[in-house]
Amino acid sequence: MLIKNALRYGNICTLEPEKNISPPTEMLIDIIAGARPNFIKIAPIIEAIEAQQRRGVAIEYRLVHTGQHYDKKMSGDFFEQLGIPDPHINLEAGSGSQAEQTGKIMLGYERLLLQTPCDLCVVVGDVTSTMACSIAAKKINNIKVAHVEGGIRSGDWTMPEEINRIVTDAITDYFFTTSEVANNNLRKTGVTEDRIFFVGNTMIDTLYKQMPRFMQPAIWQTYGLQEKAYIVMTLHRPANVDNGDKLRELINEIINSSKGLPVIFPVHPRTAKMLESIGLDKSNIHAVDPLSYLEFNYLVRAAKAVITDSGGITEETTVMGVPCMTLRDSTERPETCVVGTNELIGTDPKNIAPAFEKLFAGEWKKGAIPELWDGKTAERIVSRIINIFGSD
Ligand code: UDP
Repeated sequence: MLIKNALRYGNICTLEPEKNISPPTEMLIDIIAGARPNFIKIAPIIEAIEAQQRRGVAIEYRLVHTGQHYDKKMSGDFFEQLGIPDPHINLEAGSGSQAEQTGKIMLGYERLLLQTPCDLCVVVGDVTSTMACSIAAKKINNIKVAHVEGGIRSGDWTMPEEINRIVTDAITDYFFTTSEVANNNLRKTGVTEDRIFFVGNTMIDTLYKQMPRFMQPAIWQTYGLQEKAYIVMTLHRPANVDNGDKLRELINEIINSSKGLPVIFPVHPRTAKMLESIGLDKSNIHAVDPLSYLEFNYLVRAAKAVITDSGGITEETTVMGVPCMTLRDSTERPETCVVGTNELIGTDPKNIAPAFEKLFAGEWKKGAIPELWDGKTAERIVSRIINIFGSD
């Protein structure tokens, strides 16, 4: 359990409220992070808050790690590489079923808020922690909730993330959005303009900031990789990895279509077990542990293409101009397809060979960078929050 300033911020280890807690005099913002993509999205927000503090603004934050992702490769490495301070609180939710994890996070966060409430709960993205903490905050004294990356929708209700998005947005007060499509999705549900702030993409703030520090991973040598002569692959959505036959078919098709180029496959923990059961012997696909942020994006930037079912990676490939094939039938980030380098290939293995043919024929679109994905999103968010709360 990590507790910094435990007296001030409350310690969720104990059910008893701490004695003699003096409430913060400044505005207190909770920043919630639980899973890999969250860490990348919160890093620049924390930095922007600290910049405002240095300017003398009375704003304080409490970093709450829910413990949804807890091992070094999915959590610790990101804190280290991205310079994220140690969390003030770790709810240590760990893994479990959807309901189990949601319940544990809600209980832990509720306990913390009962000890020391915050003025604003900032959630990012679309993971279980996003939904669980926004519900807990809203139900405790109607604490205001801000959703960074609000309004995006895939329309696919079989995705747990889509449920997280819908539930979170139903109780969010302030929406910080990445695209005009997201703004429109919110308008359609009756959200008024004064609660929608089109600010850009904090994941891209991190990408721009860290680009000069990208690091060649050791596997570059192990597999004799060369610029633009290998593919990077990531898969973790239930639709692709929870059924062994489906996963095997997808992988076989990628092996058959990729002309023997090395395919580097950093394996998400949720995919690892199934992959082990189907085996990958004697192929050009190299399964490796999840890579650190700086190593992974070094690989992506120099890759011939990326094949993925991730959401965040389609945004990063768009900004780095790397062709991206997405093994999904829908996306909540349509700008990566309309403006960027992403193409939805679908989940039918038959679609993989034609996509590779297009890539090898040099016919993949070049793409452009979506509006406001300029590295300054977190500054806009924090300025806006100060504005809102200053005038409340
Ligand atoms: N990522 C990483 N190492 C890896 C795979 C991904 O650092 O081995 C980063 C990637 O650059 C992106 C984020 O993790 O910033 C995407 O996370 P994930 O695909 O788990 O989540 P999603 O975006 O699908 O919600």
